[in-house]
Amino acid sequence: MSKQTKYIFVTGGVLSSLGKGIAAASIATLLKHSGLKVSILKADPYINVDPGTMSPLEHGEVFVTDDGAETDLDLGHYERFLDENLSQDNNFTTGRVYSSVIEKERRGDYLGKTIQVIPHIVGEIVERIKKAGEGKEILIVEIGGTVGDIEGLPFLEAIRALKSEVGRKNAMNIHLTLVPYIKVAGELKTKPTQHSVGELRRIGITPDMIVCRAEMALSRELKDKIAFSCGVERNCVIESQDCQSIYQIPLSFLKQDILTPISEFLGLGELKPNMQNWDSLVKRIIAPTNETTIAFVGKYVDLKESYKSLTESIIHAGATLDAKVNLKWIDSEKIEDENVNELLKDVDGVLVAGGFGERGVNGKILAIKFARENNIPYLGICLGMQLALIEFARNVLKLEDANSVEFNKECKNSIIYLIDSFIDAHGKEQIRTHKSPLGGTMRLGSYSCDVKAGSLLAKIYGNQKHIIERHRHRFEANPQYKTAFEKAGLQISGTSNGLIEVAELKEHKFFIGVQFHPEFTSRLTRPNPTILGFVGASLDNAK
Ligand code: GLN
Repeated sequence: MSKQTKYIFVTGGVLSSLGKGIAAASIATLLKHSGLKVSILKADPYINVDPGTMSPLEHGEVFVTDDGAETDLDLGHYERFLDENLSQDNNFTTGRVYSSVIEKERRGDYLGKTIQVIPHIVGEIVERIKKAGEGKEILIVEIGGTVGDIEGLPFLEAIRALKSEVGRKNAMNIHLTLVPYIKVAGELKTKPTQHSVGELRRIGITPDMIVCRAEMALSRELKDKIAFSCGVERNCVIESQDCQSIYQIPLSFLKQDILTPISEFLGLGELKPNMQNWDSLVKRIIAPTNETTIAFVGKYVDLKESYKSLTESIIHAGATLDAKVNLKWIDSEKIEDENVNELLKDVDGVLVAGGFGERGVNGKILAIKFARENNIPYLGICLGMQLALIEFARNVLKLEDANSVEFNKECKNSIIYLIDSFIDAHGKEQIRTHKSPLGGTMRLGSYSCDVKAGSLLAKIYGNQKHIIERHRHRFEANPQYKTAFEKAGLQISGTSNGLIEVAELKEHKFFIGVQFHPEFTSRLTRPNPTILGFVGASLDNAK
């Protein structure tokens, strides 16, 4: 029999956006760096089957895993902290749980029983948690939402039941709350924490540890008060103070000796994480030596959460290069012929991120033209790559109507088009139709890309012949134009089974467009080579 996986359940109280995902990822990181086999799971109580269809305005970024699952953005944090590839098993929602229970019911799997929240829905949640923990020593389970939400009840019941099933030393509860500072009183207040723990207890969950999010440090007396009123040990009140970088949190937890009580609860013995490398990267994030400024051209500049992985990947590259990377956010809808020069004249690099729909496309094309003509390092990601090809076709190849069928179905020079079928990340053929591209299937997840020797792509990936990166898009670059592009100096340096994955300019400091999303595989301790290469080129340009 395989060894019992130990569970750490992380719940949140008082309000959302307290950084529960970061706290969970930080604990996971400390345990992994102590040599344990750790994984992490996010259970989301909302009804959408996955966040794939949710607007970035509603839910921030959609994070794509290796196996092509569209998941919650917290999974991105988990991967960036843990440096592990997670899968579709590491995130599920109420919608997913109900659809599989209903599917089983329709199949007759329940042998005529009445299907109810308890035991069937809760049982399905428990099974999914167990599955994500298979083969791991520790599974951290973050429950989305806040204690007291009606939709969260089955999830809380599931962790209550699972804890009592696996017993002592095999599960513990960590509750994250807010300790607000009330200015007029000049005091940090513990009442919301007491109420939220009270709410947890009412449904049968006793927290073993409280993590307090606060603007400032908690005094010893305040921690004692929380310990006393919430019924936890004094060394089990941990603070999570606002700080400059999220990557400081594991170090702050470690300094507060969070691992001693965790180890006692779960019987893990002495834990001594090696955080040396992490520590030196964080020091370079906090006090870097160099500096560069990159124009971030996008559609949702007011909603930076929708580019979370990308902005984090730039921080990773900056940490490795000991550089502060200033992002100059530019709303692509505001870029025009008249102002592009003014907007971009003082930046060291130009980045056009991925996106869907026609809004802001012209501004992005103007930014790309400016970077190409003025020898400014350029990175185009997904849509940013597609538009680089369109810009080149229009302005260099003089194909005036060059476009993507995403924006003009009838255009004669469809530089970006729709292919009829492709092989998905699981090796299955997916059919797409021209008639209903929106309902069509997206190319999602990891694909291998062949790298052309001697190219810029080869250089930034250390001369690897094949690289693996993640995708999330419907449209593809049309190979019919490959020869024309190459003749005019735009080299196709990355391909995957005939599909164009990477294009780059020969006579340029650094100009590359990638169909994949390099940001999804970047980690603090292992920045993505495309991002690192681009930030490095911008840094060189700044000097
Ligand atoms: N809209 C483009 C496509 O679907 C690009 C998508 C993206 O940038 N993620 O192909």
